Amino acid sequence: MSTIHRISRFGLMNAFLVDEDDGFTLVDTMLGADQKILGAAAGLGKPIVRIALTHAHGDHIGSLDALKAALPEAEVSISVRDARLLAKDMSHDPGEEGTFKGDYRGAKTTPDVLLSAGDRVGSLEVVAAPGHTPGHVAFLDTRDGALICGDAFATVGAVATCAKPAARFPLTGFGTWNRDLALESARALRALDPTSLAPGHGKIVTGPVAAMDAAIARTEKALA
Ligand SMILES: [Zn+2]
Repeated sequence: MSTIHRISRFGLMNAFLVDEDDGFTLVDTMLGADQKILGAAAGLGKPIVRIALTHAHGDHIGSLDALKAALPEAEVSISVRDARLLAKDMSHDPGEEGTFKGDYRGAKTTPDVLLSAGDRVGSLEVVAAPGHTPGHVAFLDTRDGALICGDAFATVGAVATCAKPAARFPLTGFGTWNRDLALESARALRALDPTSLAPGHGKIVTGPVAAMDAAIARTEKALA
């Protein structure tokens, strides 16, 4: 009954096609993956009508321009805050400290919709999950409690937060801007009691709550 189809490159980098009555919402685009994503949607027999982005890192937005060229009608959305990073505006908001880390290659595509917490993209509810990037969001499927968490958690080898580089997959940790904020967001996402966890990197984990608790506890110990 899952409504979320995972599309993966190398088993490590993901995008998701979320079933809706009018077509698919694509969450994240990977990098160099436009043909793979278009092929997957065609194979499943529905058009991509929305493209929603968890954050502005290159491995999540890298195929956006090519997809928007192929799908000019698709509605593109990203958080208000990360829209500036998508436009390669690296300026800080008041109170933001420290260098933004990771690949901010930006995109030419101008988002159609700027998201805030509580907004809806189809059946997905926007959940604020800042820390990895300042405007990182997760998407909660209100139909079944599945959580598309972007880089707030990764599941390569084991479920891990992005608040510290994980032993098995340190990339998301290296790309994290604010570790304390990322840990707070990990706790907030855990508090949603998701039925499954669909990350930017790694497999979809069903019944993820105990593993999220363990990941949070490991992170708390490491950051203490
Ligand atoms: Zn990232």
